[in-house]
This record gives sequence, C-alpha cells and structure tokens, in this order.
Amino acid sequence: MKTLAIGDIRIDRVVESEMPIFEPDFLFPDATREALDAQRQWLEPHFVDPLSGKLIMSFHTYIVRTPHHTILVDTCVGNDKHRPARDFWHQLSNPYLEDLARLGIAPEAVDYVMCTHLHVDHVGWNTRLVDGRWVPTFPNARYIFAREEYAFWQAKAAAGEEVNHGSFDDSVLPIVEHGQAVMVESDHALEDHIWLAPAPGHTPGNIVINIEGGGDSALLCGDTIHHAAQMDYPEWSSRFCEDPILSRQTRTALIERLADTPTYLLAAHFPTPVAGQIVRHADAFRFKPRG
Ligand SMILES: [Zn+2]
Repeated sequence: MKTLAIGDIRIDRVVESEMPIFEPDFLFPDATREALDAQRQWLEPHFVDPLSGKLIMSFHTYIVRTPHHTILVDTCVGNDKHRPARDFWHQLSNPYLEDLARLGIAPEAVDYVMCTHLHVDHVGWNTRLVDGRWVPTFPNARYIFAREEYAFWQAKAAAGEEVNHGSFDDSVLPIVEHGQAVMVESDHALEDHIWLAPAPGHTPGNIVINIEGGGDSALLCGDTIHHAAQMDYPEWSSRFCEDPILSRQTRTALIERLADTPTYLLAAHFPTPVAGQIVRHADAFRFKPRG
C-alpha cells in the first residue's frame, strides 16, 4: 500500500501474510456459486484467485503516524503462537518486526496499539515470546481495548472456555497483567482527528476507527467488512460473526454511509492495493481501489 496521507496523518501497513485462503462458501455461509460467478469479472484477479476460486485475504497492521503519536491498528496472528486448528497460523515465524523497522519503527517507539476486536488474527503481535514467556511486544505502548469487547471474552475465559484459539491467554491477558491495557468506551477519542465508533455484530464490542484531517478522511473498519464480495452482497455475514444479523445491519449501514463519498475504506483483510472507496453500482456497490 502506498502511504495514505490524511491531513498531517500518514497511514502505512505491514503485511503478515496475503494469500488465497478461504473458500467463499466457507467464509460466507450464505454465498452460492451462482452469486459469486455473477461477480467474478470484477473480483478476479485482485480479490478472488482465478485458479483456486478462493478469496484472497491480507493480514496486516495499519501504522498510523500523527504529529504526536505512532499507532498500530490490529496486530495479525503473531510469531510462535500455538494454533493447531489453523495450520496456516500455527507457529509462524515472519519478519514482521523487521518490516516495521523498515518503516522506521522500533517497538519502543510505538505509543498506542489498538485492536478493532479481539479475534485471533487481530491480537497476535500484541505479545512475543521471550525466554518462554509472552511479553508485550511494544514495551512503551498503551494498548487500547474496548471495554465491552474485553468483558465479553473475559467472561468466556472465566467460564473455562478456550477463547479465540488461545489468543486471549497468550496475546491479551499478558498486556493486562503488565499494566499496559487501557479499557475505553466504544466512542473513545484518541486525538482530535482519530476516534472510535461502535460497530457491533462481528463481535459485541467490535469498533471502527475514524481518521480525519485536511479535508480528507479514512475509516479503518476491521472485520465489519471482510471481503470485497460483500459489496454486491452486504447481507453476507461471515461464519466468524458472533451475531450475523446485527453484523449484517451494521455492515449495510456502513456501506450505505460511505458509498459515493471520498472517505477511504481501510479494511483489515482487503488485499493489495488495500485502500479504496465505495461506489454505488446498479442496485449494490463496488470497491474502487486507490491507484
Ligand atoms: Zn479478522
């Protein structure tokens, strides 16, 4: 992704992985082959792999640099994490920190880490393994968690459930134990030009992040929208949505609101070139990637 400037705020990304990963009807239980075939023409080859027919998804972190702060949004899967139920995320060893360094960012320089929600692929680099223990990867950062989101998963963990493939234990709790977690309301403002908004459905405390400046704007929507195929079918919720009906309502309202506006959409899993705008098309929508 080319650096996106929103006023005096710069947005880049670090990619952990980008690949054809899920069969469409696995990620979207409502998807039919017929419905997908109808939109192949615009989805291939950027969003759907023509060979396998699988959805192409990226797992990345947005790096938001303001005149005051360096902020990371969503931290992928992480290295060394034990995820046997997802072989493509199990015991990874990726040059994520080296890639951050290439953008001029040392772990010590990160001021805030924000997770749009606490699923396994959004919290991983919160921690890293040092001498057999999970410690915060960014020692000086405050990690912003939506209070409602944290409470939802914490209750499951307290009931003895393994939460999000074990990521709550190895990537969220150590942050709390080190005193680096800050629980906020879902409409929290981080700076004058960066604020959260609730987007419930995918998870109960799911949030989106608004960035505005110099007459431009961007919305970091996390998994509120998973894939460009949802432009034609905003009603498709993913199999990972906790409340598929609420997720559908939230997503549809968001797409309606952004359509034909200059606001850039920055989703958590859209592949290269990532950023783009939503436009109305026939009786649905299209995603127009930024050149
Ligand atoms: Zn995700």
